[in-house]
Amino acid sequence: MKKVLIYDTTLRDGTQAEGVSVSVEDKLRITEKLDDFGIHYIEGGWPGSNPKDDQYFKQVRNIKLKNAKIAAFGSTRRAYLRVEDDPLIQNLIKAETPVITIFGKAWDLHVIQALKTTLENNLEMVYDTVKYLKEHTGEVVFIGEHFFDGYRSNPDYAYAVMKTAEEAGANFLVLADTNGGTLPNEIEKIIKQVKEKGLKGNLGIHAHNDSDTAVWNSVVAVLNGAVQVHGTINGFGERCGNANLCSIIPNLSLKLGYENNS
Ligand SMILES: [Zn+2]
Repeated sequence: MKKVLIYDTTLRDGTQAEGVSVSVEDKLRITEKLDDFGIHYIEGGWPGSNPKDDQYFKQVRNIKLKNAKIAAFGSTRRAYLRVEDDPLIQNLIKAETPVITIFGKAWDLHVIQALKTTLENNLEMVYDTVKYLKEHTGEVVFIGEHFFDGYRSNPDYAYAVMKTAEEAGANFLVLADTNGGTLPNEIEKIIKQVKEKGLKGNLGIHAHNDSDTAVWNSVVAVLNGAVQVHGTINGFGERCGNANLCSIIPNLSLKLGYENNS
């Protein structure tokens, strides 16, 4: 049976939704529920971003999980720091999770305007960070932030970002539609192109719902070979929300015959 790994980010992206506020205790209880349910990956938060998330990562180690692996979330190293000197990267390692997920910028415009660095330096940041974290944890998930917008702007560069993460040893290469503006036909076309160009690693999809197509974008990505799907329970997330796992999971398993429960 074809298998898809479900990656839940309710506790991180989901808590960005307006009106959602969870305590450490809530996060721990939700973790247990998601684990009982058979979710493969649970992204618990961003270590070092607030005391609540630090407490969560300390306490979640005491929970015996049956199915899920806990992931800590963060970003590539800062532009002008060596990876081993970046305190944000050290916070990720201190969380002692079996999985670390980082995002890196895949849109040339954001590299230049938001990071204020060169395209080449951003590739080095991706490479150093993935490689370093691989030495300190079991699995590294790399998310190409704004991948689809970046691909429309500069396909070679967006591809190079993902390829760099692959070469540095990332276990999953996740294509993010961070602004949620991409439609299913483009998701399909672009995934086919990056595979043809030579991206061979395990692909994932991280969709937001601004075009009301996040569920279908995720399903289309799976039909085109993605093996890890990011989403949240009931689609909670900022603006119009994330891809809704409560729709994706049954569509994949009941209608398309994918195994997606651990
Ligand atoms: Zn997101």
